[in-house]
Amino acid sequence: AATSRLDKLLANMGYASRREIQMLARNGRIRLDGQPVRSAEERVKLTPDLETRLDVDGEALDPLPGFVLMLNKPLGTTCSRKEAGPLVYDLLPPRWRVREPAISTVGRLDKETSGLLLMTDDGALLHRIISPKHHVPKRYRARLARPMRGDEAGVFSAGTLMLEGEDKPLKPAELDIVSAREALLTVHEGRYHQVRRMFAALGNHVEALHREAVGGLCLPGDLAPGAHRRLTGGEVEAIF
Ligand code: URA
Repeated sequence: AATSRLDKLLANMGYASRREIQMLARNGRIRLDGQPVRSAEERVKLTPDLETRLDVDGEALDPLPGFVLMLNKPLGTTCSRKEAGPLVYDLLPPRWRVREPAISTVGRLDKETSGLLLMTDDGALLHRIISPKHHVPKRYRARLARPMRGDEAGVFSAGTLMLEGEDKPLKPAELDIVSAREALLTVHEGRYHQVRRMFAALGNHVEALHREAVGGLCLPGDLAPGAHRRLTGGEVEAIF
C-alpha cells in the first residue's frame, strides 16, 4: 500500500496546516492504535484500517482519499457554485469542504430535484459513472402537472426524441407508469434538465422530480433528506 507522511495526509484531509498538525502530534492529540504519535513526520500506510486505527482528539479519522458518499439531496440546494442558494457541499462536515483532492458531485441534479446524489474525491471513479460509454442508468420519479397522454412510453423508448436546441436524438429511455400523473423514468445519459425537457417535449410539465437510483444503487429509505453516508465497497460495485 502507498504511504504518506502524517502531516501531509492530515493537511490534505483538511484538519489543519502541516505546522498545526505537528503541534497536535507534540501535544499527544494524534494517536495510532491508541498510542500518541510524537511526530507528524512519521509515515503511515494508507490501508483502509487506518481510518479506525488513527484518531485525532479521540475522534476516528475522516474517510481516507478515494471515497464515495451518497447524499439525499433536499429540494432547494444546488450542485453548482454559480447558482444562488445553499450548496450541497454545505451539507457535509466543514472540514470535508477543504480536502485535497476536492470532493465533487457525480454529475448534477437541478436545484429543484431531490434524491440520490453521489459525491467523490476519486476522479477516475467519477468519470466511470458519468461517462456516456458506461451507460449507467439513472432512475427518476416524476410527478406531472397533467395526466399522461398514453404515448409517452413509446416515444421515450424509440430513441428518436429530439429536445429543443439539440441536434442528436435522445437514447431510448424506459417509462414505468405509476398513475396518471406519476411515472418512473430511467435514462442512460445526462443532458441538461433532461427529464423535465422530455416531458415538456410531450406537452406536459414536471412538478416534482426525485432521483431514486444510479445504476443498481438505490437511495435507501432510511437516509433522510439532507443526510449523507459513505458507500460500502459493495454499494460502489452495485452502481455498475
Ligand atoms: N433531469 C432533470 O430534468 N433534472 C435533474 O435534476 C435530473 C434529470
